[in-house]
Amino acid sequence: MDLSVEPGPNRTRRGLLIVLSSPSGAGKSTISRMLLSADPEVTMSISATTRPIRKGEQQDRDYHFVSEGEFDQLIAAGEFVEWAPVFDYRYGTPKAPVKAALKAGRDILFDIDWQGTQQLHAAMGEDLVRIFILPPSVQELERRLRARGTDGDEVIAFRMQRAGSEISHWAEYDYVLVNRDTDTCLAQVRAIVAAERLKRQRQLGLVPFVRDLVAGR
Ligand code: 5GP
Repeated sequence: MDLSVEPGPNRTRRGLLIVLSSPSGAGKSTISRMLLSADPEVTMSISATTRPIRKGEQQDRDYHFVSEGEFDQLIAAGEFVEWAPVFDYRYGTPKAPVKAALKAGRDILFDIDWQGTQQLHAAMGEDLVRIFILPPSVQELERRLRARGTDGDEVIAFRMQRAGSEISHWAEYDYVLVNRDTDTCLAQVRAIVAAERLKRQRQLGLVPFVRDLVAGR
């Protein structure tokens, strides 16, 4: 898939695509929210989904909530960088905002599962940084799911089972963090982002800069 972008006027580096995956309850949403408010260069990718809107969610802020038919049309029109079935619904990442953010030299954060991460990796390769967040223990994961107070025993048992299958993909990620404490985990994510931005191949204009240095200009 060609998502190559021309350098924009204010870009000193290539934008970064940051994937955060974890089983639900490992603290991923909290870390995402904190990263977004701490770092103005990062914007969130808003997915489309066929799942019904939950209490407290907002159309086009949390997701683009669409019908099954609309989702089919988006697939047919080639509007997704990736899409996958998760639980009983389908989720997909719109292509256009990703392209726009990269062009502007911004970084984009994706809260997607392992299936979407594999597809993004295939489409975007080197621009992608994959981070997996693990819970500190099974007991703590279950405690966090129950603390939300939104799900009954049956749903929690299902989510725990699903957590096992999500975690089995941990080795497909570049970085794996254990979220024992939110502040520490956020600091680790920020350290990864800072280091990845400094990678040689992401720094545009480095070649002429070094050429001038070497030439004594
Ligand atoms: P929820 O319905 O609880 O918001 O999300 C359920 C799961 O779907 C989460 O694991 C989340 O990471 C995943 N997800 C959300 N958006 C996307 C997407 O655009 N693509 C893929 N592949 N997974 C997504």
